[in-house]
Amino acid sequence: MFVGLELQRHTMTFQDLDLIDPIFKAISQKGYKVPTEIQQKAIPEILQRKDILGIAQTGTGKTAAFAIPIIQLIYKIDKQRQAPITLRALILTPTRELAIQIDENIRTYNKHTHLKHTVIFGGVKAHKQIQEIKKGVQILVATPGRLLDLIGQGYITLEHLKMFVLDEADRMLDMGFIHDIKRVIKLLPEQRQTLFFSATMPDNIIGLSSNILNNPRRIEVARKSSPAETIDQYVYYTDRENKVALLSHILRNEVDDQVIVFVRTKHGADRLMKKLTRSNFKAKAIHGNKSQVQRQKALKQFKEGAIRILVATDIAARGIDVQQLGYVINYDIPNEPETYVHRIGRSGRAGLKGIAFSISEPEENVFIRGIEKLIQDKLSVISDHPFPQLVAPMTAAEKKAWNKEKQLRKAKFIQAKKLKRQSKQRGR
Ligand code: AMP
Repeated sequence: MFVGLELQRHTMTFQDLDLIDPIFKAISQKGYKVPTEIQQKAIPEILQRKDILGIAQTGTGKTAAFAIPIIQLIYKIDKQRQAPITLRALILTPTRELAIQIDENIRTYNKHTHLKHTVIFGGVKAHKQIQEIKKGVQILVATPGRLLDLIGQGYITLEHLKMFVLDEADRMLDMGFIHDIKRVIKLLPEQRQTLFFSATMPDNIIGLSSNILNNPRRIEVARKSSPAETIDQYVYYTDRENKVALLSHILRNEVDDQVIVFVRTKHGADRLMKKLTRSNFKAKAIHGNKSQVQRQKALKQFKEGAIRILVATDIAARGIDVQQLGYVINYDIPNEPETYVHRIGRSGRAGLKGIAFSISEPEENVFIRGIEKLIQDKLSVISDHPFPQLVAPMTAAEKKAWNKEKQLRKAKFIQAKKLKRQSKQRGR
């Protein structure tokens, strides 16, 4: 089910996948020995020009599963016939980090095929990206807004496109890109090959996929809820005021390598980063409020090993691909169990062993239960630590009452604010 297990179960090699020599050479140089499950299943189908409905999380090797056959097909269509350079493949992905990551992957596999490729995303000036596009591009990785922007300005046309990839479709819809996606789809040629990837398959995704795919091959490599089985998952129960101290304790005693620490909010990320820095940890924060340059710099430093701890929010962490990341820590427990699965998928990638620690305060205990329900497994509880939770974990009934009280408090607060505003206005 997960890469690590599949590597052992299958004996298929990249040689069995009918790859052209320059691609095979690039993959070998990268050090890939065995194709992952999704690569084994998707590459032959894509090379046969089939549409794909791929249900796979990041960490399964899905980028190579579509990038490798795209390079091979375009190489055959264009390069060998010395056709003029036109845009042949478009890969649409939700975040800039992910876009950059995919483009980096393409660069690796394209090392000896020399196709023209580039990446465009918002949040930075368009000038450099436009210059690249003007030079001619065969494979374009893009986030939706910037793509539509440059199409609107006449720098990009999709009329000669042969292949279209919609990556992380569920995340795209979560991020509100549905209208942008529909606008892009309208501009695609009828005759094309479409590869559709999503980690989950809720109804709106099924609807979208059936509109744009033509008789697709369905390839599923992990159940919606299955986190990587090569990740050991632990939970610490503590109280809110002890969270930072417990985190430092874990960082000093349990983590002997680099780690991503997940937090819920941008401000939370900054606050925690400052506290860690004060405790002499080398930490950087990445989140949506940081500029693209700052984010790339932090990521680069992390990848190079110059910083040990990356404090990240979920959206910012989406595209992070750090090979051999051993540890992930959930400083905040996400209230959506799927987010937990995405987060811990950052460790133990492509068959490597990973460890995920979660630090739960009383109000979050209920989220841990939700996670355990989704993954159909219990997290291993570490109770031997200096900051145990003094408040007993809430039962479902207690949680319900607590929620009710919270809503009441919120309503009272809003009412009080309203009254204050009104009296202020009257006073004027
Ligand atoms: P992805 O799911 O595309 O984000 O890929 C996850 C990670 O696995 C990336 O770091 C890839 O470089 C790596 N990877 C992809 N395919 C293979 C392979 N066949 N063997 C080893 N590592 C791989």
